[in-house]
Amino acid sequence: MISSVLIVQRYQRGEMGNVGLVKVTFFGTRGSCPCAGDAYKTFGGNTSCVAIDTGEEAPLILDAGTGLRALGAFLRPKNSKKNPPLHARLLLTHLHYDHLLGLPFFSPLEDPGSLVEVYGPQQGDAEFAAVIDSAVTPPFFPVQMKEFRGEVRLIGVGDETFQLGSATVSARWIPHSGPTLGFRVDVGGASLAYVPDHQAPSDGHSIDDAVLELCADVDVLIHDAQYDNDEFSDKSDWGHSTTAYAVHVAAQSRAKSLVLFHHDPSHDDAYLLNLESEAASLEEAAGLESVIAAREGMTLHLDHQPGTL
Ligand SMILES: [Zn+2]
Ligand SMILES: [Zn+2]
Repeated sequence: MISSVLIVQRYQRGEMGNVGLVKVTFFGTRGSCPCAGDAYKTFGGNTSCVAIDTGEEAPLILDAGTGLRALGAFLRPKNSKKNPPLHARLLLTHLHYDHLLGLPFFSPLEDPGSLVEVYGPQQGDAEFAAVIDSAVTPPFFPVQMKEFRGEVRLIGVGDETFQLGSATVSARWIPHSGPTLGFRVDVGGASLAYVPDHQAPSDGHSIDDAVLELCADVDVLIHDAQYDNDEFSDKSDWGHSTTAYAVHVAAQSRAKSLVLFHHDPSHDDAYLLNLESEAASLEEAAGLESVIAAREGMTLHLDHQPGTL
């Protein structure tokens, strides 16, 4: 049996790459639109981007929101004399701006020889790579990605499971707005589900089969928690979930810990602290090891100890 111990700490530069420990760091926690100011200091204002350090050289990145710029600065310090080319893999849930805007600002792509493989949702009849290329091009951005010194390799995926280094990645279509994937990553005995944008059902109770499959028994579930119940009643078809629904999915899928994610830009620190404690006090949260709202700069350590319960 394998157990997980969840430790939360502030991440520090130079920490990535420890063999034998899976670390998950939040570089962007926000949904919809970035925000800035003193009222957002605790939870941060960058949009969706999470890095998984599997102990291998290449980090596994979830989404390319504005937090990806900060991750780039972490992986490629500006004052560093020489930056070796980076090879990274990025899982893109969907193409909304809040999940894509950081891609052309990812500084390792300024280095010749760098390679970022982007695995993202197939776009029906359109080619995934062509759609991304049409978003990063003048007049929306000064240059096209093929003009970067590093290479962005765009790979369309659908309902499938594939191997990236030591990680097994499962991609499934989930309800949101437009073609959207949720991901599950199993690596080094640890498991994580990433469902950052997900339309909760109007009954507030049923759970999509694909979501249940992704989240089943995971150590950590990172789930859309954009709205409180009142907001959801106004925006019930805007593609998102409530904190209560995130707790419900975590409980029903037997996830061990829940990270509330994709914070609404109108939710400042005080509001989110309140939402976090309300979510943790829900009856369905009683069986979870922890319920926490994602904070920018937070690292979760998934420390697996074979042989323990
Ligand atoms: Zn989003
Ligand atoms: Zn979205």
